[in-house]
Amino acid sequence: DEMALGGGERPAGELAPNDLEAFWMPFTSNRAFKKRPRIVASAKDMHYYTPDGRAVLDGCSGLWCTNPGHNREPIVAAIQKAAGELDFGPTFQFGHPGAFRLASRIAALAPGDLDHVFFCNSGSEAVDTALKIALAYHNATGNSSRTRLIGRERGYHGVGFGGISVGGMVANRRTFGTMLTGVDHLPTTYDRKNQAFTKGEPEYGAHFADELERLVGLHDASTIAAVIVEPMAGSTGVIPAPQGYLKRLREICDKYGILLIFDEVITGYGRLGYAFAAERYGVQPDLITFAKGITAGAVPMGGVIARKHVHDAFMKGPEHMVELFHGYTYSAHPLACAAGLATLDLYRDEDLFARAKALEPYWADAVMSLKDKPGVLDIRTVGITGAIDLPAREGLPGQRGYEAIERAFHEEGVMIRTAGDTMVMTPPLIISNEQVDELIGKVGRVIEKVM
Ligand code: PLP
Repeated sequence: DEMALGGGERPAGELAPNDLEAFWMPFTSNRAFKKRPRIVASAKDMHYYTPDGRAVLDGCSGLWCTNPGHNREPIVAAIQKAAGELDFGPTFQFGHPGAFRLASRIAALAPGDLDHVFFCNSGSEAVDTALKIALAYHNATGNSSRTRLIGRERGYHGVGFGGISVGGMVANRRTFGTMLTGVDHLPTTYDRKNQAFTKGEPEYGAHFADELERLVGLHDASTIAAVIVEPMAGSTGVIPAPQGYLKRLREICDKYGILLIFDEVITGYGRLGYAFAAERYGVQPDLITFAKGITAGAVPMGGVIARKHVHDAFMKGPEHMVELFHGYTYSAHPLACAAGLATLDLYRDEDLFARAKALEPYWADAVMSLKDKPGVLDIRTVGITGAIDLPAREGLPGQRGYEAIERAFHEEGVMIRTAGDTMVMTPPLIISNEQVDELIGKVGRVIEKVM
């Protein structure tokens, strides 16, 4: 019906077959997709709707973005209002109220003295911005030999050259060559043998942080600018930080004057039951990157939150000088700022971070109940995220995962994602217990089918 389709809009019509051709789809098996497309035309709250009006339960918040659910009225209204007020406002050399207001709100939300916000338009831009801030910080404080960046195996930090360099995905190395030089990596914290079927943070694995000591021994602290990690590695299949791991990283960074960056593009804005994962783990990074949940995905936006000492290091020299030689035409776009302010209001008004925290035990039990389904190798869950590892088909890694997405969408009416043969679920934080049961029931059936 009209209401179910959201905002009384009529669904978009079916696509003509040749309409499918021109769009070169990102991170998608284009040929397989175009044989049997999965198209959504509208959305409301927990559901997407196909062009013919079929409801699809959103098990992945679009792409980990729509934390408060889809097309929420206050966000839609704020964007519509903003679009008629100020189409574009430059933030190089000029400003507009929304940019300053949103930065203040984010600074107030972020823990401790993380209170200066630089805006960009995506997680990838946020990561490259944070890496550049780290390099420029050391330059500004007389440590220009600190140019080395440390990432982590199985890390995902978007698709910019900085992000793929500090990231730890083999496909990037295979596909794009040598990338940035002067980068090294911590090992992944995932160890199935010692961590399998853990809810939340595994007890085993804090010692993986000590590898940073080894890298300091190898490269010398005087050459290292920053360490970047996701508090929970999302895109490579939900790998929660082991207990004590992030604290240990912080201690080692402090000992050697290395900046610590948390990439919170996924973990920010409620996914782990807090505004930021930094709060959950009681660890204050020097820089936080964010995107996705800041605008509930409705308008592209990303950003970096810097601690006072990082920001203040730049605020010297002649006053007319540009302190940070960096920015994007669309940094703090008025529509994104309006969406961001309305989204933060919604998180506050519905207490959605606390809701996610309260839901976590029920969610974790539900996801873990799939433990005995055929073939399941491991299940991980933290906050409102869950991942299920299935065995790859011999000679065809990722094929079973692909089939899981297809069957879930076409046969069960749920949207899930996969990373290779790992099924990943990250529903909006407004999901009800009944919808959790529905999602898990359907995913259970998908596992039985693809196995
Ligand atoms: N960093 C992390 C931790 C992410 O999960 C992602 C995207 O999933 C990115 C960066 C890149 O964000 P975007 O796709 O908005 O560039």
